[in-house]
Amino acid sequence: MAKRPKPVQQMTEAQFEAIFPAGDEDACKRYLVARRWPNGVYCPRCGAVKVFPVGSMPFKWQCYACAPDQGYRFSHIAGTIFENTNKPLRQWFKVVHLMLTSKKGISALQIKRHMGFGSYETAWGMCHKIRAALVEPETKLGGIVEVDETFIGGKAINKHGKRSGVAGGAAGKTPIIGAVQRKGNVVTRVLAKVTKESAQSFVREVVSNKVSLLATDQSNVYRSLSGYPHQTVDHHRGEYVVGAVHTNTIEGFWSIFKRGIVGSFHKVSAKYMPLYVAEFQFRYNNRFNADIFGTAIEGC
Ligand SMILES: [Zn+2]
Repeated sequence: MAKRPKPVQQMTEAQFEAIFPAGDEDACKRYLVARRWPNGVYCPRCGAVKVFPVGSMPFKWQCYACAPDQGYRFSHIAGTIFENTNKPLRQWFKVVHLMLTSKKGISALQIKRHMGFGSYETAWGMCHKIRAALVEPETKLGGIVEVDETFIGGKAINKHGKRSGVAGGAAGKTPIIGAVQRKGNVVTRVLAKVTKESAQSFVREVVSNKVSLLATDQSNVYRSLSGYPHQTVDHHRGEYVVGAVHTNTIEGFWSIFKRGIVGSFHKVSAKYMPLYVAEFQFRYNNRFNADIFGTAIEGC
């Protein structure tokens, strides 16, 4: 069996400075162009590949496919999160880099101070735009998969809302369900309420029915999950690992996320929870990707 890969070293601060030297905005523009259009620039509006550089203006192109008369003029940032902001690309890149290298997340306040931004709102807005860009499409997981749910928010953070006996968790808490493929990716979803229906439809959507094992705890919501090789551990009876059956991997992910929420963000409303969990999911799923920064920029 292949050895478990070690998480890789991301781009360091020094490497960032070397690739994107201070004052060299063009280096950032070239990087963005190479990332979003690896096979050549195409029109972000109509997809036409026949576009024409605007002679006198670098990083500007014209498309006549969707605007035969005057042509549609677009720039390197057209259709990206960097559009319509007055911040240079290099500052955006720095914020992305700070977010990706902070395992437990970084608060908008810290970003504001570090970057020297005039307002908290600027930092907050940038962070949220970046989080939205990090949202990954849901994929189907295979191999050995663990599924578990957690509750975040309110004053105290419970490991499981189950102790209270309330199926949807205590009031004010946001339920999140997650599935992780061992040695692979995690997929999460913020739920309005943890019910048998919401939990099982999540499993059917993100877990392949060809998995070799689906491990959960004994929560009722996973009961009679047909079509899966489903096995459980009974946490109430102090049972945590039975052979390959455990949920330690997904619980490890929850614990990183919770430490981040408690340590860096303090309070996160249910409304923004999907964005925060997307950020943690992106970092987790790219932990073996040395080019995590480039992957993030691609999605921007
Ligand atoms: Zn076009």
